[in-house]
Amino acid sequence: MKVLVINCGSSSLKYQLIDMENEQVLAKGNYERIGQKNSFVTHKVAGEKYVIEHPVSSHKEAFEIMLEQLQHKDYGVIKDLNEINAIGHRIPHGTDMFDKSVLITDEVIAEIEKTTELAPIHNPPTINGIKACKEIMPGKPMVAVFDTAFHHTIPEERYIYPVPYKYYEKYKMRKYGFHGTSHRYVSARVAELVGKPVTELKTIVCHLGQGASLCAVLNGESVDTSMGFTPVAGIPMCARSGDLDPSIVTFLMRKEGLTPDEIDTILNKESGVLGISGISPDFRDIEKAADEGNERAVLARKSYCYLVAQYIAKYGVSMNGIDVIAFTAGIGENQINIRKMICENLEWLGVKIDLEKNNCRGEEVEISTPDSKIKVWIVPTNEELVIARDTKQIVEKL
Ligand code: ADP
Repeated sequence: MKVLVINCGSSSLKYQLIDMENEQVLAKGNYERIGQKNSFVTHKVAGEKYVIEHPVSSHKEAFEIMLEQLQHKDYGVIKDLNEINAIGHRIPHGTDMFDKSVLITDEVIAEIEKTTELAPIHNPPTINGIKACKEIMPGKPMVAVFDTAFHHTIPEERYIYPVPYKYYEKYKMRKYGFHGTSHRYVSARVAELVGKPVTELKTIVCHLGQGASLCAVLNGESVDTSMGFTPVAGIPMCARSGDLDPSIVTFLMRKEGLTPDEIDTILNKESGVLGISGISPDFRDIEKAADEGNERAVLARKSYCYLVAQYIAKYGVSMNGIDVIAFTAGIGENQINIRKMICENLEWLGVKIDLEKNNCRGEEVEISTPDSKIKVWIVPTNEELVIARDTKQIVEKL
């Protein structure tokens, strides 16, 4: 079975075609700047990269060009579209409606459309993607995989916010958590790597990318996570604030005469390490500036590592212990010094890392020393594979 995995952002379409016989990626790519004059797709096959500049005004047009690449006469990986057996879609927000992946029907599309009130930026592009696929490949089975689904096991007393209960009833205002597909993959993979059943492990997954969240995974289930009602909550991120004293929001709005949209922009796009350093949202730039002695870059880096470590300790409380800490995503997989600094804050817990083993990027490797009380691993995430596996499992039963 060949599964096409689709991940639509507001101006992007990421895709992978995976052969599920051996879970091999046949081709993958990213269409960027959809809706702008300079849109282009970067298509990768067997280590070769093809950049095709082709302006497109919608996800549907991007989808058509992407399908042409998959069938290209020189570097195509399929002869015709019948070779694609199913499509798996990543959906950022499943609200409290979806606790697992589902086959996409008209009813499911209508339900996902209802979620846009809670995810106005993230869910509409994915609905566009589903509709485009439906038009271009009618009848092709499609599966929706939700970033929030893995967190449905978080108990009520941990997802409820201490504000008047009527707002939970009125607006479904509660912790949802995100990056669930990544947390699920990494926690299951780390169990394989340490050679223990996932049902016997207390793992903290640190998904540190542009957006970042931690998840406490107890016996294979999410029991707490750092993102909340929205993906701004939790640890500070590249440009998102993470947790704040809530009164800072109203204080700033009054003092600076800000509208709700303006304060949203500040908290989502101008905060985090970018906000503190004033340099960049990219940790590569922060590291360089900090190493050159830029004081605010040093401050941003210290604050980030302190707050991530503090969350890790917090999740020790959520699980009554910690067996494994796993780092993943852009920063978690690649930023050697950030991992080191986070772990230094956890020495009191008996965390010890081997600096030589830690000196690597993007590899599956244990970086803790044999006498460390908690194992520390780097596990590159693979959300696309989880989406493809769920899609296969659901479509096989049809
Ligand atoms: P997203 O949340 O958009 O998927 P990523 O997981 O790709 O983001 O993380 C992006 C961040 O990861 C960048 O800001 C950068 O700091 C870091 N990063 C990504 N690749 C590398 C690399 N090769 N070396 C060092 N840092 C990297």
